[in-house]
Amino acid sequence: MKPAQDFIAQNKQRFLDELLELLRIPSISADPKYKDDVLRTAQVVAQSLRDAGADNVEVCPTSHKKDGKAKDGYPVIYGEKIIDKKLPTVLVYGHYDVQPPDPLDLWTSPPFEPVIKKTKVHPQGAIFARGSCDDKGQAYMHIKAFEAMVKTNTLPCNVKFCIEGEEEVGSPSFRPFVEKNKKKLACDVVLCADTSIIANDVPSITTGVRGLAYLQVEVTGPNRDLHSGVYGGGVANPINVLAGMIDKLIDKNGKITIPGFYDDVLNESKKDRKP
Ligand SMILES: [Zn+2]
Repeated sequence: MKPAQDFIAQNKQRFLDELLELLRIPSISADPKYKDDVLRTAQVVAQSLRDAGADNVEVCPTSHKKDGKAKDGYPVIYGEKIIDKKLPTVLVYGHYDVQPPDPLDLWTSPPFEPVIKKTKVHPQGAIFARGSCDDKGQAYMHIKAFEAMVKTNTLPCNVKFCIEGEEEVGSPSFRPFVEKNKKKLACDVVLCADTSIIANDVPSITTGVRGLAYLQVEVTGPNRDLHSGVYGGGVANPINVLAGMIDKLIDKNGKITIPGFYDDVLNESKKDRKP
């Protein structure tokens, strides 16, 4: 690993400058006003993969169905380095879109003007900008680790990158993209560059992250206030009904009680748990 580490040390300032440049683009996928910025970020990420030494870099168009109609999505950036087909292939997943920065008055510096500062929590200094730790920072770190290994001829396996632009809006186009590109994305291991580390000096790999399922439930009741003396107890209050429904979703051990909810969940094996 020594040559790669030397490469990182020699290029540290450039790596940092490039990341700060990426953080300056407000790639807010949830707000159509920032569409051009999101698309520009996609191009910057693609170029950074090319510069890092990835082959077959593509800005892949995506789409999904909404209300029965096809809707364009933000592109997925793909790139690869296949050094030996017999070696395992690692696919790095990340996303280049960011959450909206509201509420702005809680920021001590503008969200898209990155600053490096020391705080109580970050005595060694940290970058403060929207996306710095979700997920431009992490995705970029993997691109730079890849670059260091490519440029020093120390890459030990094949690598593929798949970096999407809709993670912060629920990835509506990602599933259709993956289904259409199974062969292109085929790999032995997926490395999700969208998690965190326990501490700066503890490299950490997160195994098994939770998904997200949500729905909107509307409970309607009487069309006017009802007199408690006449109707109290006889007519259910929608708030009480709703509270009861929510309460029934989880048992006293925190287990979700919806029938079938755990059907597709795989339990870890003893081998998985082994450090
Ligand atoms: Zn993320």
